[in-house]
Amino acid sequence: MNINNDIRKLVNDTPFVDTHTHLWEESTRLAALEERRGSGIPASDIGMLFSHYTDSDLIVSGMPEADLKRVFGYDLEPKDKWALIAPYYERVRLTGYGRHVRASVRMLYGEEDIHAGNVEAISEKLRAAVKPGYYRSILRDVANVEYAHVNSLQTPVFMETDMPDLLMQDLSTVALGSGLDLTAVRNATGKDADTLKEWHGVIDWCFKTYGPRAIATKNQSAYTRGLDYAPVSAAEAAPIFARYRKKPGSVSPAELKALQDHLAHYCIHKATEYRLPVKLHLGYFAGHGGMPLHRVRHNAGDMCLLAQEHRDARFDIFHINYPYQDEVIALAKHYPNTWVDMCWAWIINPEASVRFLKEFLMAAPANKVLCFGADVLPVELVPGHAAVARKGIAQAITELMEEKWISMDEAETLIQRLMRGNALELFDHDGKIAAWGGERAAS
Ligand SMILES: [Zn+2]
Repeated sequence: MNINNDIRKLVNDTPFVDTHTHLWEESTRLAALEERRGSGIPASDIGMLFSHYTDSDLIVSGMPEADLKRVFGYDLEPKDKWALIAPYYERVRLTGYGRHVRASVRMLYGEEDIHAGNVEAISEKLRAAVKPGYYRSILRDVANVEYAHVNSLQTPVFMETDMPDLLMQDLSTVALGSGLDLTAVRNATGKDADTLKEWHGVIDWCFKTYGPRAIATKNQSAYTRGLDYAPVSAAEAAPIFARYRKKPGSVSPAELKALQDHLAHYCIHKATEYRLPVKLHLGYFAGHGGMPLHRVRHNAGDMCLLAQEHRDARFDIFHINYPYQDEVIALAKHYPNTWVDMCWAWIINPEASVRFLKEFLMAAPANKVLCFGADVLPVELVPGHAAVARKGIAQAITELMEEKWISMDEAETLIQRLMRGNALELFDHDGKIAAWGGERAAS
């Protein structure tokens, strides 16, 4: 199948709004060059490119974990790291993960593939690029990304970013409710509570303090529990909270679930009050060796109760709920308050993502899908992920045209909508940038 040239050009020229990444702050990457192993950041060399997602494919293909650890460390030369990776690279280079690494290497360092003869040169270029301003140039100039939404993993609630006009920040609600973690919230905010009522006050404080600048709320509790958030009243949850506060071990698993359920609903109500879309992880698990598909397959069904209970919320369902993507097409088609986000999906399974996008567009309103989120920690992987996504979008649109479902005129409008327009409608980028400005002026 040849991708239509006009479509390819339109897709390449149109900027993405990247609705989900985990990018470290640029200052963290700069500091890691000096602090080295104390930073917790992989070394800025060839290992960086394999440190997120492709590491899982390498392990699953047979690479020993101990070797992989050395690939991210600061002790080996790039050529010695490559000697560890090479036997497994051939096994993973055709997956979506492998492809986004290769595409990034091509776009950033001008090499078609990675091999023993160029790992030193790639590493040198990667390291030399780590300078003030390099995030902006990789995201805007190379990846053609207009804004990147960041769910920072460097802090449990909200990242006070240095670049609020480029790296829009999510407010994470995991530790506040569905994955309640009093210590993490206390360490991050200085706030504590003895009673449920006081904890509601802590959540209120987080929304009042961060909500005006946050682009959305984000929650990935589906990694540790189901999304079956039962309606639990404050009167039922209060005595459980009081006991949990004194002695977490005194609360049974069922009681802890009830408390989390109550707080999860509370956080969704707050997000609705602050007009923040509610981003939720559904579907496939990052990492390897631990995904409970029996539970994951209930994610889409559980969403129905949330969508019905919170009519005024706007839910952004992540990762197309892979491998249960058909079910979320049904959700986005049926529920006015539910969107589907293709973040991460293009590299989990590029071919399934092409099929998904075509089927989505034939079934659900075109404004209900968000088409790109790189979902990575290293900024160096965003260009390659964007390239895989652009190829997939161009392929899906070309196929729909060849099959005579859509015309060229319709395709032009659609591409704008899919790559940026839907995100600009759902999220208030301008308002958030203004709020950061106001905040800074006031301080
Ligand atoms: Zn993510």
